[in-house]
Amino acid sequence: MKSEIDDILNKSTFSKEDLVKLLSADEQESRKIYERSKAVKAEQVGRKVYFRGLIEYSNYCSKNCLYCGIRAGNSRYIRYEMTDEEVMEAATYAFENKFASIVIQSGERNDRKFIDTIERLLKEIHRMSDGRLHVTLSLGEQTEETYRKWFAAGAHRYLLRIEVSNPDLYKKLHPADRHHDYNERLEALRRLRRAGYQVGTGVMIGLPFQTLSDLADDLIFFRDFDIDMAGMGPYIEHEDTPLYQFRNELLPLRERFLLSLKMVALLRIMMKDINIAATTAMQTIDPQGREKALLIGANVIMPNLTPVKYRQNYLLYENKPCLDEEAEECKSCLEARIALAGDEIGYGEWGDSKHFKRRTES
Ligand code: SAH
Ligand code: SF4
Repeated sequence: MKSEIDDILNKSTFSKEDLVKLLSADEQESRKIYERSKAVKAEQVGRKVYFRGLIEYSNYCSKNCLYCGIRAGNSRYIRYEMTDEEVMEAATYAFENKFASIVIQSGERNDRKFIDTIERLLKEIHRMSDGRLHVTLSLGEQTEETYRKWFAAGAHRYLLRIEVSNPDLYKKLHPADRHHDYNERLEALRRLRRAGYQVGTGVMIGLPFQTLSDLADDLIFFRDFDIDMAGMGPYIEHEDTPLYQFRNELLPLRERFLLSLKMVALLRIMMKDINIAATTAMQTIDPQGREKALLIGANVIMPNLTPVKYRQNYLLYENKPCLDEEAEECKSCLEARIALAGDEIGYGEWGDSKHFKRRTES
């Protein structure tokens, strides 16, 4: 029988009210959303998955986001920074295994030494791969000058999650100071766009105080900002963070996972040709979480290339998987998992966001 969900899915644009209804759909009705998002993926971006080798460069962070395990205020972790040799080894592994692309992620730092080191590494990676290994950065908020400098040195994509698009909710999840300002984060996204990057953003799902109306607004935010890439995943509490005190008010993990799947599927329907990551946080809740995300709309996966000795110290959230898995094991494991999901790996292909190409060509 035709339901309200069918009627909404047949619309060309979803209103906020539509999105709240879709996000509230029960498991039975959610299948209709997934059928649609699967079809959109197959038609628009193909059943192909692109690898981005993830290098968790350093856990030094000058910020104190209330949800994050590596916040400056947490003294439990030994702070580390990978050496140039270690970064180059990971980048070379990615290049030789035809990953075609890596992501360098880290806690946020704005000092000269950090900025220069990243610039030097970008140039080195460019030289090593003759410009064929693409680099995505995820290094937080920086000045326009820094973003431009890194772009000139060879980075072309940047991931900066808005975390939540509701400014009032943002305030509840961050310390009240000028280093954690919603407008500043938004401005950083605009700077990235001006500097020429393919811009990726995203949110956490299932945070304390977050409502379905907030999540609907997040999807609308992505559409209005006309993003090229997205990375979204469930919020997972971490014992050593201030937000942990609200753990009893959270949705059960399973529901946070299902809501994250629904967010991925809806975004695929709304923004047909962007790149969407199947994030590690999804796998933290469900061992097959990333494959499930690929099946219903995601098309990017990030195998971890961080040296195993550092991984215990880059725990943004608890129960992060694959802490002892070397790059080679991780690659074989993902190959098997992706085959199970029925997708094919785009080895040797950059897998640039089709949306970015269309946006810049028009
Ligand atoms: N420092 C950079 C990049 C590293 S943090 C930045 O903040 O942009 C990368 C992402 O980890 C953050 O954007 C956030 O969305 C996610 N994250 C942090 N703590 C988390 C938690 N407890 N659960 C789920 N995701 C979390
Ligand atoms: Fe630092 Fe990023 Fe964690 Fe915030 S989310 S504390 S900026 S690593």
